[in-house]
Amino acid sequence: MTAGGNARHARRNEILKELGLTPLWRTRAASTPGTSQPSELPQERQPVPVPLASPEMRSESGEQICSHLASDVLKDRQVKISEMNWGELETSIAGCTACGLYQSRTRTVSGVGDQNADWLYIGEGPGAQEDLIGEPFVGQAGKLLDNMLTAIDLKRGRRVFITNIVKCRPPANREPLPEEAQCCQPYLARQIELIKPKLIIALGKVAAQNLLGTDASLGSLRGRLHQHSGIPVIVTYHPAYLLRTLPAKAKAWEDLCFARSTMETLLQSGN
Ligand code: URA
Repeated sequence: MTAGGNARHARRNEILKELGLTPLWRTRAASTPGTSQPSELPQERQPVPVPLASPEMRSESGEQICSHLASDVLKDRQVKISEMNWGELETSIAGCTACGLYQSRTRTVSGVGDQNADWLYIGEGPGAQEDLIGEPFVGQAGKLLDNMLTAIDLKRGRRVFITNIVKCRPPANREPLPEEAQCCQPYLARQIELIKPKLIIALGKVAAQNLLGTDASLGSLRGRLHQHSGIPVIVTYHPAYLLRTLPAKAKAWEDLCFARSTMETLLQSGN
């Protein structure tokens, strides 16, 4: 192994130890000489700047439209969003008042990363720190997510885009209501269309259930491939759950290995 390879190997072991995932077992592909190098990565993109939601932006489009606008108006909103480019999408999200979450947010949290990412990670909704900073997964759960990415040779912003089901923080970190998720759905749909990821990773029950349109348990959704808009989806635990539930970490590592081998297959098959 090269000096760089040794350093990466040592770093990965450190991370796995931190995650409580040692002793380490590896997939065959990962232990084959020559295959542990990260593949050629596309040019890193700058994270999308996130404007602070101003009162003007909030009042621009009136009150909470999703709950009481006619279906043709909702359809019109959906069509408009489906035609937006990145800049328009950012502006629209930053000024969104479609559900009640806009009232208590500090910043919208649209997403961060490579706009041509192969990997799309989707969480539930911003927490307190994300609401202040405007970037997803920057708190303790985010640190764990970053470590999980590193464990499979990925990095925030490099071949990876991270976003959430809802782009505004639900008060007191409660789960987003179905209506809130529904109001935000056109934004996520457009992000997926623009990114065209090869693989989506649903982090936790809320992300999985919303993406897959099911109320099945997380346990029953793990360990197999699903589809959303024709894109393969893998379901795993939310990092915040992993922080509270040590025994789930070994299962999360299984999910990471499954995700990595699925991506290898997708890349080999040219999908
Ligand atoms: N939890 C989430 O689901 N998303 C974040 O951005 C932060 C914490």
